[in-house]
Amino acid sequence: MSPPDQSTFYERPTPPAKRSAPALIELKKVRREFPAGDEVVVALKDVSLTIEHGEMVAIVGSSGSGKSTLMNILGCLDRPTSGTYRVLGRDTRDMAPDDLAALRREHFGFIFQRYHLLSDLTAAGNVETPAIYLGRAPEERRAEARKLLTRLGLKDRAGHTPNQLSGGQQQRVSIARALINGGDVILADEPTGALDTTTGEEVMGILRQLNSEGRTIIIVTHDMHVAEHADRIIEIRDGVIVSDTRKAGTSAVVAKGQPHAKLTHGAESWRDRFNEAFRMALRAMRSHKLRTFLTMLGIIIGIAAVVSVVALGEGSRKQVLSNISALGTNTIDVRPGTGFGDRRASATRTLTVADADAIAEQSYVDSVTPTVSTSATLRRG
Ligand code: ADP
Ligand code: MG
Repeated sequence: MSPPDQSTFYERPTPPAKRSAPALIELKKVRREFPAGDEVVVALKDVSLTIEHGEMVAIVGSSGSGKSTLMNILGCLDRPTSGTYRVLGRDTRDMAPDDLAALRREHFGFIFQRYHLLSDLTAAGNVETPAIYLGRAPEERRAEARKLLTRLGLKDRAGHTPNQLSGGQQQRVSIARALINGGDVILADEPTGALDTTTGEEVMGILRQLNSEGRTIIIVTHDMHVAEHADRIIEIRDGVIVSDTRKAGTSAVVAKGQPHAKLTHGAESWRDRFNEAFRMALRAMRSHKLRTFLTMLGIIIGIAAVVSVVALGEGSRKQVLSNISALGTNTIDVRPGTGFGDRRASATRTLTVADADAIAEQSYVDSVTPTVSTSATLRRG
């Protein structure tokens, strides 16, 4: 038999046409259970879903319907209890944790309701962070971060820390962060949830713009007005997809390939990451001076205590040793008789004081002390 004619794939009526290339995202009968005491909460029940490159999808549902659970699985932050999740045809169950991390780093950009920016870093520093883990050269990622911030209207805010920025600005920083490694697929969990309507509209406008460049955008929201911005709305209720509608006249745009970033490799990348971590640590220490001081104080007291205990121990050991050597090794007793326990020793009369004087005259003798010892019985009363 000959292989099926390619053209037959394009004759299907429902857009987007199913291509022979694997779908970007494909969930099949995905189920996610959480143990809750003796019971089990089923957050997702047999969810099957395909999302193609270049789509703008909104997942809507009320609170507790399983949207975040679904999003976490899509972003490879969580795994299904059963069922399969394929990204570009690869089953995520077969992937090692490092491969999943690489997938997240290189393809996914995350946007959260509460922005999740690192408070010690500047806007530019936050945007750069994912690029550090990808191993991009420092000058390059710095330039890219500035370019993205400029594009998102935050040129003169690049050096500000998150607490100096408004909610909308913070969300734009987090969008820039999602884009720095390419951001082929943007996963946004309630991106406008903490923003007022106008700012929310602005953020949705940016996401639309990114979609028109060919990026895939997946938004989770409980707000139907927000969902209206998407081309496809998937409604989820109690962990089940209840509807999946597409706006008329829309179809997935095939993503343009993202330009390949200049990557550093092996030892260089490792050194780079280490330097960056070191610098971040210093920055964190500088911005929490009291905490740093107290920690240092603790460490200093600890080390001082250990050092004194060791020194004391060593000192008293030396002292005891010198006492022992003074007592024993260079003192020689000369006794009458044939040795310890000689019963007739007391009868020996030949060891005299004159012997002591004679010994004292020897050059190697420091001093001599004649002693007399005897035993007697004394009775009282
Ligand atoms: P949504 O984002 O739509 O508000 P979630 O996906 O966060 O909903 O939660 C869906 C259901 O799963 C809820 O009933 C929630 O209580 C439950 N759930 C979510 N995460 C956990 C967890 N880690 N442990 C236990 N139950 C959870
Ligand atoms: Mg949620």
